[in-house]
Amino acid sequence: MTKIDQIETLILDIPTIRGHVLSMATMRTQTAVLVRVKFSDGSEGIGEGTTIGGLSYGPESPEGIQSAIETYIAPGLLGRNSDDVNGAIQLIDKLVKGNRIAKTAVEIALWDGLGKRLGVPVSQLFGGAVHERLPVAWTLASGNSETDIAEAQQMIETRRHNVFKLKIGKRAVRDDVAHVARIKEAVGDAASVRVDINTAWSLQDARWGLRGLQEAGCELVEQPVPARYRRAMAELTRSYEIAVMADEALNGPEDALEVVTAQAADVFAVKIGQSGGLKRASEVIAIGQAAGLGLYGGTMLETGLSTVAALQLFSTVDDLAWGTELFGPLLLTEDILANPIVYRDFCVEIPHGPGIGATLDPDKIDFFRRDGRRSMKAVAGE
Ligand SMILES: [Mg+2]
Repeated sequence: MTKIDQIETLILDIPTIRGHVLSMATMRTQTAVLVRVKFSDGSEGIGEGTTIGGLSYGPESPEGIQSAIETYIAPGLLGRNSDDVNGAIQLIDKLVKGNRIAKTAVEIALWDGLGKRLGVPVSQLFGGAVHERLPVAWTLASGNSETDIAEAQQMIETRRHNVFKLKIGKRAVRDDVAHVARIKEAVGDAASVRVDINTAWSLQDARWGLRGLQEAGCELVEQPVPARYRRAMAELTRSYEIAVMADEALNGPEDALEVVTAQAADVFAVKIGQSGGLKRASEVIAIGQAAGLGLYGGTMLETGLSTVAALQLFSTVDDLAWGTELFGPLLLTEDILANPIVYRDFCVEIPHGPGIGATLDPDKIDFFRRDGRRSMKAVAGE
């Protein structure tokens, strides 16, 4: 029996290509927690746990993710059967409440190791990929309408993206609606325009906002009100034609069931980190499918590592009606993968394994590491 021998973590800080203006924070750097699990037969698995905006987005920070893994998750897993991923997931859930992104990072590494030992992509462990590529949206979040329009037009011309998500909610509702209307008018039918409010609006704001967005030709609004406002989300879902997507409200399968029960969304933004791992994300997907909701492959702006892990799962889903936003590595100045993900013809291509299909670039890992006391090349597998 192959056993789990060692679990290591490190934090990377990677600059973004431009300021990424969200309703709750402006990102100029993305921080990722990398995990490497070594197994007794010499095989390894790598994983990533990443969030956005420090603690301004959600309850987990990069430092907290690292601490949860090193102090509470890793000691419980050492010596266990490497191939028993479900057993590990159940044990971690007993040892640690919440901390879904930390759990995800470790779980990805376990799936990656299992896939590599079996010589198959992780998608095979979820029944097999049914897509070779998936549509991928881009987020316009420079904070300036003219810059966003130029960026959108360049993306359309180069056939990289024709679905745009606008991050709004920081300014007055009427100013935000005018910003969205300008961008929609500029791109016309060449692109789909959607918005993410990241919980910034009150129900009253959202009523005006959804009406204006709908008239501007915006197709979808993501998490307009705080995650706990399920009745407000239900009213907005019911009252307007524009699709309402749940994101921050969706932390694992239990939340998915509650959102469905409250009829508080038209679409699920499924994120592997927010769900608590690939397995839990697959359960969120199943609940959304059973309820007849639209599905969307969401991102926490992860590096290529977690992005390919998400692609392994999303490639197995028959209908992702709203596509994906798995563009994380494109927002970073450098890709940490030695085998970067291919983006072309408005799609992201699914990597072929084994494992999650990611190989780290040891020099990049060395360069972006926060903690110089460790040997980063060891984590990159060199
Ligand atoms: Mg969102």
